[in-house]
Amino acid sequence: MDYAEKLLAWFDTNKREMPWRNTTDPYAIWVSEIMLQQTQVDTVMPYYITFMDRFPTINSLASATLEEVHTYWQGLGYYRRAENLHKGAQMVDKEYGGIFPRDITLVKKIPGIGPYTLGAVLSIAFHMPLPAVDGNVMRILARQFLIENDISVAKSRKVFEEKVMALMPSDPNRFNQGLMELGALVCTPRDPNCKECPVQDSCEAYETSSITNYPVKSKKVKIAEMNYKVLMIQKENELWMEKRPQEGLLANLWGFPMLDDIKWEEFKEMKLSFEFGEKVTHIFTHRKWHMTPVLIEWREQENRLLEKYMKYDNEARFVKIKKMQDIPIATAFKKLIEILKR
Ligand code: SF4
Repeated sequence: MDYAEKLLAWFDTNKREMPWRNTTDPYAIWVSEIMLQQTQVDTVMPYYITFMDRFPTINSLASATLEEVHTYWQGLGYYRRAENLHKGAQMVDKEYGGIFPRDITLVKKIPGIGPYTLGAVLSIAFHMPLPAVDGNVMRILARQFLIENDISVAKSRKVFEEKVMALMPSDPNRFNQGLMELGALVCTPRDPNCKECPVQDSCEAYETSSITNYPVKSKKVKIAEMNYKVLMIQKENELWMEKRPQEGLLANLWGFPMLDDIKWEEFKEMKLSFEFGEKVTHIFTHRKWHMTPVLIEWREQENRLLEKYMKYDNEARFVKIKKMQDIPIATAFKKLIEILKR
């Protein structure tokens, strides 16, 4: 058996059941691929099912409001993906008559579809022989063939794509999925399960006991640590919330006013009464927020000074704690709400 045959035979008996594996609808595959970016399969599964239930077609997603799309996405994180998916659906609906195109040039124009998603959707839905190279695939191939190219450098992708194409059988659908599954289940970043690997006999890293040297990755992502005091202003059973700006981290989601150290010093001078809540840390890809909730009771007469921190360009209002599930709230802030409820 050649490389592809071994991989496909393994995939057929070891693949996990996933709702997006029982369809050739490019829209359904597109949604799954976007949700799976930087998110585990087990986390994605329930979101995918409710999302597809509410937005079963490109047209249904295109005609929904972004606010509603956010509500269905909340908890999955990386909200920019949802926004691009929404924009992409609107574009396909308007410009391609609601039909996901087979033409690579047209697919490339859809917001949020990069080379990986393009290859994944077109190869899985339409069996087009295209590479779908993500971190998993680069890791397997780097180990298999001792590829020295640095995977944190964008132009390395081409080397891996060429390798995939050199191995590509007549069934790109299963081959690409097989590689993805092998990376997720066997050739994992740490402690790969080489004993169970279907392509172990052609793995040069295994042969030369150099698995830990591959893939080569030089750039280390710097994580910026930020401290915030988060104002949780409570008026009976409501909390003051504001919609975040349209750009930047957690854009368009709802949260609480946040003060950095400088603003906090200024805030303290007002000598308002408040209590600190339990500190929460939330980790993003390149950032870590250390958030200390500042619990304040809203008193119409006494707290006028607070308004300075409550004004916002976008929408802002007191929201009933019980009704919070109706608006898209970023997970970082949900953690604070949970603490408050406790
Ligand atoms: Fe990965 Fe081990 Fe298989 Fe090589 S033998 S591809 S290192 S799981």
